[in-house]
Amino acid sequence: MVHSKVGAKTSDASDVRGSVFEGFPARETSLGTLRILRALPIRQKRLVGAWCFLDRFGPLSFSDAKPMDVAPHPHIGLQTVSWLLQGEVVHNDSLGSEALVRPGGVNVMTSGGGIAHAEETPRKNSGLLQGVQLWIALPDADRNGQASFQHIDEVPIIEQAGSMVSLFAGSLLGWSSPAKHFSPVLGADIELHAFANLELPLDPSFEHAALLMTGDAGIDGRSIDAMNLWYLGTNRSSIEFKSRGGGRVLLLGGPPFPEKILMWWNFVARTAEEIALARSDWQSHQRFGEVKYRGRRLDAPPLKRFAPPNPAS
Ligand code: MN
Repeated sequence: MVHSKVGAKTSDASDVRGSVFEGFPARETSLGTLRILRALPIRQKRLVGAWCFLDRFGPLSFSDAKPMDVAPHPHIGLQTVSWLLQGEVVHNDSLGSEALVRPGGVNVMTSGGGIAHAEETPRKNSGLLQGVQLWIALPDADRNGQASFQHIDEVPIIEQAGSMVSLFAGSLLGWSSPAKHFSPVLGADIELHAFANLELPLDPSFEHAALLMTGDAGIDGRSIDAMNLWYLGTNRSSIEFKSRGGGRVLLLGGPPFPEKILMWWNFVARTAEEIALARSDWQSHQRFGEVKYRGRRLDAPPLKRFAPPNPAS
C-alpha cells in the first residue's frame, strides 16, 4: 500500500504546529449493500487516542432501498458513536433503547461487558445517507461496567471564522459535548465555508487525525484528500484549516491509548479467551440480550484465527 509520509518524526511541545502529517490509505469494504470506507483500524494504524474504528458511508441517495440495515450483533469493550451528515438511522439495543439519529445529533452506546444492537434506515426517511460510525476503546477499569445508551439531539455548534464546528465528543474552545466518555477524547465535525481560515487550539498531549468528508480542505498549508486518514501526531497546540470551495473535515483526538487492545469482529478485548467467550455467549443467546428487529440477527464468524473478520459496525 502506498503511504505518504511527510516528516514523521516526533516533535517537542514548543513546536506549536507539530510536524507529523502522514496519510494512511482507508480501505473500501461493504456492510451488506452499503459501501464503506474504513479509515480505522487499518494495518498501519490501529488507534488514534482511544478511537479504534472509523467507517465512513455515503453520500448516497435512494428511493425504495434500506441502505443501512445492520441486524442485531454484540459488542464488548467499546463505545459506538454514530454521527450523520445526511439522512437518518434508527438504533435499537438490548437495553430496550430506541433512538433516531439525524444530522446534528449523536448516538453513543456503551457496551460495558456486553450489549447488542441493530441499526437501520427508518421507513420514513429523506432518501439520503451520509455519515460515520466510530468506536472508542474502553479503558480496562471501565470495560466490564454497565452497558448504557445516550442519545443527544443537538451537540454544541461553535461558529467561528467562516466555519461551524459541531462538537460530538469531548471539549473544544470552552465548549463540551454532553456525551459521556471514559477517557479524554475529541470528536469534531468541522464545516468550512468557501475561503474559510480557521485556527483551533488543540491539547498537545492528544494525538489527532483528520478525515476529509466533503469538498476541499487543507491543514497547516497542506491539502488533504478523502481517501486517507491524515494522522497528525501529538505535541500540536493549534491547527489551521483552510478551504477554497468549502468542505467538511472530521477531527479526532485523544491521548495515545496506553493499553494494548485485541479487536475481533465487534469485540474489543485484551485476550483471545475473552473474545472466544464473548463469541460463544452470543452464539448461545447468553449475556447480550435480545434486540427489537424484523429478521435474523447476525451470526458470529467462525473462530478460526484472530485475524479480524469485518466488523459489523
Ligand atoms: Mn455495532
